[in-house]
Amino acid sequence: MMGNAYYKVTRDGETIEAGYDVAATCERDDCDTAIDRGLAYLCGRTPGGDECGCGGYYCERHLYMSGEDEVGDLCGPCITTYRRQDPLGS
Ligand SMILES: [Zn+2]
Ligand SMILES: [Zn+2]
Repeated sequence: MMGNAYYKVTRDGETIEAGYDVAATCERDDCDTAIDRGLAYLCGRTPGGDECGCGGYYCERHLYMSGEDEVGDLCGPCITTYRRQDPLGS
């Protein structure tokens, strides 16, 4: 089974290190809050990005709850896109 502490994923054609053992900072340009690359800070549900999430890592202040388990928490630009696309407006 793949561990969650450290692994590599491809994001935008680039291999990045991920997992909760990987120290990082929030990927928002004007934010340098210390985080890790665990799933708790991931935009979307899938490391590397998925249908709704970009696969970026953001601090708690810059992740927004989508309210859907399958979607997970999303960063600012992604939650904006997601809400716009949601025909039910839920
Ligand atoms: Zn995003
Ligand atoms: Zn941040």
